[in-house]
Amino acid sequence: VQGTGATERLWITEPERSTALARVSHVRGRTFALDRSLFAPTSRAHRHPQPHDQGTIWWDGEKRRLERVFERDGGLWHQLRGTVPSVGAELNCHLDSDRRRLASRAHTAMHLILAALWASGAPPLVADPEVKGGGNVRLDFAGPVPARTLASARAQAMAWIAADLSITRDHAVRGTESKFVQPQRFQPPDPYPGPATTLDVVRIDGVCAYPCDGTLVARTGKVGSIAIAEARGRNDGTFVVVAKVSAGR
Ligand SMILES: [Zn+2]
Repeated sequence: VQGTGATERLWITEPERSTALARVSHVRGRTFALDRSLFAPTSRAHRHPQPHDQGTIWWDGEKRRLERVFERDGGLWHQLRGTVPSVGAELNCHLDSDRRRLASRAHTAMHLILAALWASGAPPLVADPEVKGGGNVRLDFAGPVPARTLASARAQAMAWIAADLSITRDHAVRGTESKFVQPQRFQPPDPYPGPATTLDVVRIDGVCAYPCDGTLVARTGKVGSIAIAEARGRNDGTFVVVAKVSAGR
């Protein structure tokens, strides 16, 4: 299997960007790789999954909807509805920015809520914390999270949002991560999830630094408001929390 060469990941290098020209570098079946891409994939590599970006691509005078973008064999692969562009084709890519913004606000809220909950002794997670559609975040804890703990964690997260803290990306070489990355509490334990060589790290100034390959907003002030949409225990003893960021911002 051939590699795809390096795809420049514009959601990291130019996160505010919503349009780009890109050239097809490889085609495999119905999927293709680009020299650079606006579209962040779904990734579970750092155990912080979020839905892949959506958007449209103009090519050869026609507008096509991006059906899928995913990582496989170290490459970033795209799939369009109904067509496959050929190697060398130049594509005019448009990101669904509203959808991205909502996912980024929700992902940022997820880091804040987790940091606040764990600071107040919340149990470990039994599944990956996950950004869902519609600005929702789902957390599955190993045991109950008391209503009072949840309310104070939300209040702490809202205080961090009001403080408009900066959010930056970094990398940690395996073996050095415990010096500046906070452990996450999973059951079974997995304090620093991520690839074997280098971790992508997202740091929220003064709050937390977690391994993460999702999209986040640039400052906590952009998150808006967080509500707890659901909090309930299940028969197996685990406890589900769904947090949601306010719509339209
Ligand atoms: Zn994350």
